[in-house]
Amino acid sequence: MFKLSDFPNKKATVLGGGKSGQAVAQLLASYGCEVLISDEQLVSLNTPSAHITLESGGHTEQVFLADFIVKSPGIFPKSAVLLQARELGIPVFSELEVALSFLPEDTQILAVSGTNGKTTTTTLLGTILQQQVLREKSNRRVWVCGNIGSPVSTCVSQVSSGDAVVIEVSSYQLEDSTYFHPHIAGLLNITPDHLDHHNGMKNYIAAKARLFKDQTKQDIAVLNAADAECAQLAENIAGEVWAFSAQPKHWLKTDVFYDGDELIFSEGYHLRPPQLRGIHNVENAMAAALMALAAGATEEDVQTAFNNFHAMEHRIEPVAVVRGVSFINDSKATNLDSTITALKSFDKAKNIWLILGGRDKGASYEVLLPYLKAHCKQVLSIGECMDKIEKELKDGFPIVRCETLEKAVAYAAQHAATGEIVLLSPACASFDQFKSFEERGRVFKQLVNRL
Ligand code: ADP
Repeated sequence: MFKLSDFPNKKATVLGGGKSGQAVAQLLASYGCEVLISDEQLVSLNTPSAHITLESGGHTEQVFLADFIVKSPGIFPKSAVLLQARELGIPVFSELEVALSFLPEDTQILAVSGTNGKTTTTTLLGTILQQQVLREKSNRRVWVCGNIGSPVSTCVSQVSSGDAVVIEVSSYQLEDSTYFHPHIAGLLNITPDHLDHHNGMKNYIAAKARLFKDQTKQDIAVLNAADAECAQLAENIAGEVWAFSAQPKHWLKTDVFYDGDELIFSEGYHLRPPQLRGIHNVENAMAAALMALAAGATEEDVQTAFNNFHAMEHRIEPVAVVRGVSFINDSKATNLDSTITALKSFDKAKNIWLILGGRDKGASYEVLLPYLKAHCKQVLSIGECMDKIEKELKDGFPIVRCETLEKAVAYAAQHAATGEIVLLSPACASFDQFKSFEERGRVFKQLVNRL
């Protein structure tokens, strides 16, 4: 467990000079530490400080002069610099663990993790808790942070006694947390992802299991009962397990299930899920609801928050209806699973013009074929991996090479008929033509709005 008082010399190295690396450096400096930020890439300091030194474009021996090392989430576990630090016996902590050590003791900590759905669930949960605070007319505050955008290190210095902190936690953040104790922790699902980073599925599951490792009898774990990997973790959880399922088949006794229309809670009340497309969002809503109820929200708080919640940007987000054609932005779909999830959320009406492609992630597009056949009219391919898409899909499905998002939108606008759907759900990373999936989504929306 990280405690700054264990390191009286207060000399720290932060590996990685990205957003969370810089934030944790600032936090440590504010507690009197001398911090070296070391990054393999060229980076610059956002807020220069007398107590922070930056070495960028490579690591030097300076790294190992620290009493302890803080690891940014993106640092590869097997990277030479980490292995050497461990060999030298320098303690390594995650940014998450270090940041949380500075919270007031009676902060309510809620953590959401899972392969998919983290951001949606974290946002929903934050919204419900805001609703709870409004109803209570208390001056308690709700902080939403972590993988979702603002690092935990940025938020902790503003947290007061009694506040709630809702954290979106990725497996990268968990893997080097020697101690992590959320009072309420929710795990949405575990499917293969980031396996190269974690060196296999076993380690990936082990990283996710750290979510519950330090929980005590007083704590609550929320699990997806329909996800076998998730459900298996239940037996090693110290606190109460509350489970949800949107599927008929599940492995744990559920506290809430979905009847195809409403969420039915074992206490007997029913809630209407938020107006979000897809069964995956019903799962996200159930997880957020259970976590919020565990934190003291009422079912009315949950329902009010659900009623006011709209699709999140870049996640099956309706953009506009142009001459009867619906344009939908799912730029966040950067892998095949997400694109399949999006397609499954539509009727099997074979009326979707799917914009697919970008930077390839290595897997075969063939897994899309049954979903394309059920839901789509045509694939409009874009980006670096057009050849691969064509090679793998063309015998099974019609494809039009469009090269760019601009040409794909223009093509779809010209050819799609009233009642049809144009869906950007690319199943690929965006970095070949855009800075991020957010930029790709914004460009798509601009192109649509120009129509
Ligand atoms: P994350 O933060 O974990 O990446 P998001 O909430 O941003 O998750 O959703 C990203 C994509 O993941 C969505 O566009 C959707 O395709 C898919 N997704 C979301 N929730 C779930 C879920 N509960 N199960 C499976 N897939 C999901």
